[in-house]
Amino acid sequence: MNLLMVEYMAKIKQLSAHEAQKIAAGQAVERPANVVKELLENALDAGADSICLYIEDGGKQLIRIVDNGCGMDQEDAQLCFAKHATSKIESVDELTSLTTFGFRGEALASIAAVSKVTLLTKQADAVEGLKVTAHEGAINVEPAGCPQGTDIVVHNLFYNVPARAKFLKKRETETRHIIQAVQSMAFAYPHLHLQLYVDGKQLFNCPSQETMLQRTAQLWDASTAKHMMPIEATRSDKGISLCGAISNHQWFRYDRSGIFFLVNNRWVSNIGLSRALVKGYNNVIPSGRYPMAAISIMINPALIDVNTHPRKQEITFAHPRTIEQLIQDTVRKALEAHVSKQIKKDVSFYQPSPTVYQSAESISFTPASFASDVKDITAFEDMPLPEPRTVQSVSFAPTAEPAVIASQQETAMPIIETPQELYTVIGQFAKTYILIEQEEGLYLVDQHAAHERILYEQFASRFEDIPTINLMFPQLINCSQDDRAIIEPHLDLFLQHGISIEPFSKEQLIIQSTPVHLKNAPLQEMILTAIGWIKELSHVDKEQFHKTIHDKLRAQMACKAAVKAGDVLSLSQMQELMKDLHTTPNRFSCPHGRPTGWMLSLHDIEKTFRRKT
Ligand code: ADP
Ligand code: MG
Repeated sequence: MNLLMVEYMAKIKQLSAHEAQKIAAGQAVERPANVVKELLENALDAGADSICLYIEDGGKQLIRIVDNGCGMDQEDAQLCFAKHATSKIESVDELTSLTTFGFRGEALASIAAVSKVTLLTKQADAVEGLKVTAHEGAINVEPAGCPQGTDIVVHNLFYNVPARAKFLKKRETETRHIIQAVQSMAFAYPHLHLQLYVDGKQLFNCPSQETMLQRTAQLWDASTAKHMMPIEATRSDKGISLCGAISNHQWFRYDRSGIFFLVNNRWVSNIGLSRALVKGYNNVIPSGRYPMAAISIMINPALIDVNTHPRKQEITFAHPRTIEQLIQDTVRKALEAHVSKQIKKDVSFYQPSPTVYQSAESISFTPASFASDVKDITAFEDMPLPEPRTVQSVSFAPTAEPAVIASQQETAMPIIETPQELYTVIGQFAKTYILIEQEEGLYLVDQHAAHERILYEQFASRFEDIPTINLMFPQLINCSQDDRAIIEPHLDLFLQHGISIEPFSKEQLIIQSTPVHLKNAPLQEMILTAIGWIKELSHVDKEQFHKTIHDKLRAQMACKAAVKAGDVLSLSQMQELMKDLHTTPNRFSCPHGRPTGWMLSLHDIEKTFRRKT
């Protein structure tokens, strides 16, 4: 052992019990929403059927939860904040037959270690209640008058753990996480009467209900509720059943925050489940948009592995495909039935898997099924939007737009490397492709993909001094109050991209100026999409957040500003575009990864005409 080590080791000190508890607390409690979840679960474990929750400043200031459960007696009240104090099991053997949420006896101890907790509690037959305070590891119990049940107040979360407090997000973000947790609980227990007050205002009042569909009407706004429909399915042979509510084909949102999966009444996050849900929509909602859904899956517990880490909501299935297929089929059938009823005609969303070798007219690609085969689905999230569909036209055929055709990609060849114009623009084909004659053959350039790449790189390199223009008619963006609050702190990010956005009214933003290229582009979609990203990225660190938003924004702007398939281009416009493309980095693919060009080699042409072998 060298000297340095001895010196180092000599510094080891035992932490005080309270300090150790503060550190351990971080594992169970990362953010206010975790506290809310633990306290809600305790209330349910106590048999409450009515729970009222109060949140202030995203839970950082205050979390208060009042239940009408069984309450605690003097002894329990004294013990409940002690580590490993639980009334729910006595030995580890009982874990397998557990019917309660809690069993570790960790939550209250952890919460009390990092906040100031006061609790009022009374059992039904007790003459009077008790008031318990837990501050800095000291527990005090005294008699107090209170109704039956338990009323816990958690003040100043992480006041004594500055390192943790620093990582808490703004009020809106933490509030949103709490709302998600409360909604998941409301879905899991439709019979529960649940109320939520946020900063003094009642956000939810959800009396007991029978179904999840009724719950969506309580939790989501009226226009969403109109578009929700029930689903139900059972595979008794596989020990699975599911029920819930999903939005119909005419409704979607810009992020996944309206998707809830419960497995055996526990809220879980599992990407396979949400992908299966989206697949069930078979492209009837645009790519990059998400349905709203609350789906409860009941499954033989032997077939799942719940990560029992106190914070995690992950789950692994023994047979994920069975469940995913069931979700996908159930969703598809429900949508088909819904649309068929609407238009009084049978429709089928079913699409056979894509076949590449088909006559040109019948060729069909399914972006959704394609995307799901790709590990990193994020690359497909920013795909250009297919045209919005209407019910009347019942055109559920997939759009070929976002599909990357594998065979094409393989044969896609780089455009000639020389900067000299060793090519001739022949003309435009199908108002979409620029035909180029080169020595090696005929080169087809996708005008939208190519222009998109050019603009994307321009927006990147001229960052900060993108030429902008003051709009003669400023654009109003309609959004919810919540959306407005989400985007407001990030308006400078948009400004850096030449988009000047300001709050206008409670539910409106105004765009006064944009980059020149975007002057005619309607930006409502893009802004709502960006709000969706901001929401989804709330968990990443600042640097990553900025980088991701910048990249996504650039790609969206490029997509919006680029010429579209179907735009007629003059010869000089095409020549201009080709000239720009030549000097653009990464020019062989668009920002979404589609190829910009495809070479039909002279050699192949000659072989086809049997001029060569
Ligand atoms: P666990 O839930 O794992 O047992 P907790 O730290 O969450 O551990 O709670 C400790 C104990 O405090 C519980 O076992 C229960 O006896 C009691 N308790 C906590 N919250 C309530 C409540 N709302 N109503 C009645 N008893 C409660
Ligand atoms: Mg508990």
